Amino acid sequence: NPKKLVISFEVFPPKKDFEEKAQKLIEELAILKQFEPAFVSVTYGAGGSTQNHSFELAMKIKKELSIEIMPHFTCIGASKENVKEYLNLIKNNNINSILALRGDVPQDCEDFEFNDDFRFASDLVDFIKAKTNLSIGVAGYPEVHKEAPNAKQDLENLKKKIDSGANAIITQVFFNNDHYYDFVEKAHQEGINVPIIPGILPITNLKQIERMVSMCGSEIPIDLIEQITKYQDDKKTMRKIGIEFAVNQCQELINSGVSGIHFYTLNKAGATKEVLENIL
Ligand code: FAD
Repeated sequence: NPKKLVISFEVFPPKKDFEEKAQKLIEELAILKQFEPAFVSVTYGAGGSTQNHSFELAMKIKKELSIEIMPHFTCIGASKENVKEYLNLIKNNNINSILALRGDVPQDCEDFEFNDDFRFASDLVDFIKAKTNLSIGVAGYPEVHKEAPNAKQDLENLKKKIDSGANAIITQVFFNNDHYYDFVEKAHQEGINVPIIPGILPITNLKQIERMVSMCGSEIPIDLIEQITKYQDDKKTMRKIGIEFAVNQCQELINSGVSGIHFYTLNKAGATKEVLENIL
């Protein structure tokens, strides 16, 4: 693309009717392929429900669209044997990168006990680094991870993942760029010098906003909530507002000098395509 911006997309494996929905997703990604994504990342259900389909979907994207893939992998509850097996699968299929995550503690399990093999994502990064030469991405939280006691300690923990050998950070979705700028500045002060790729989600309806707040705790600017709420019965206008917001957010990030943007596509091409058409 003319701006030489490194574009990437996140998708997730469909929970039901995998074959049919995965095919539809391929069609959506075929639309986004024109933006020459550096990779498509595919989420991995820490809870287990979509784990097998995650790899299957990633391979389908690689084979049918010839796009590089970055499978996510969560180590919570996994043994070294499980992880070794998964890494072999990745190596044997000529995949070059992986997003190494811990995964969320299961919500329905009050006295959940971590497995000794992998307590934090940094343990997984150590393990991958020792066994492979994959490029390793890790997660970063501009608004601080929900379990971290404070931003400083969260950044120190992020630094451990980099010291273990991670090559890039993809951020949790955020809607207020100030959180990102502040995060990047503090990460640099902490000695983190790998790319910190902003994760952007174009919001097109009220339900997505509610989901984002409950899942990620990301702050959503009050103006955006008010506008989307005001037009919740007028889908076209609501969508236009969400896309305009994302375009402005991305434009500001580009002006600030980011080298790439990772789009949370929610498995649909439309909104991301419109944003990209406006910023490239
Ligand atoms: P970690 O980096 O291990 O951090 C977890 C918590 O532990 C943080 O509070 C951190 O500060 C703290 N911590 C880390 N190291 C130490 C240490 N040595 N001592 C004390 N505290 C420490 N989830 C999925 O299930 N599947 C996915 O595909 C998925 N994809 C994601 C993609 C992105 C870009 C992001 C941002 C998140 C994704 N998640 C996914 C969510 C993620 O699994 C959760 O946020 C999870 O709670 C933390 O994972 P992590 O890899 O950041 O963990």
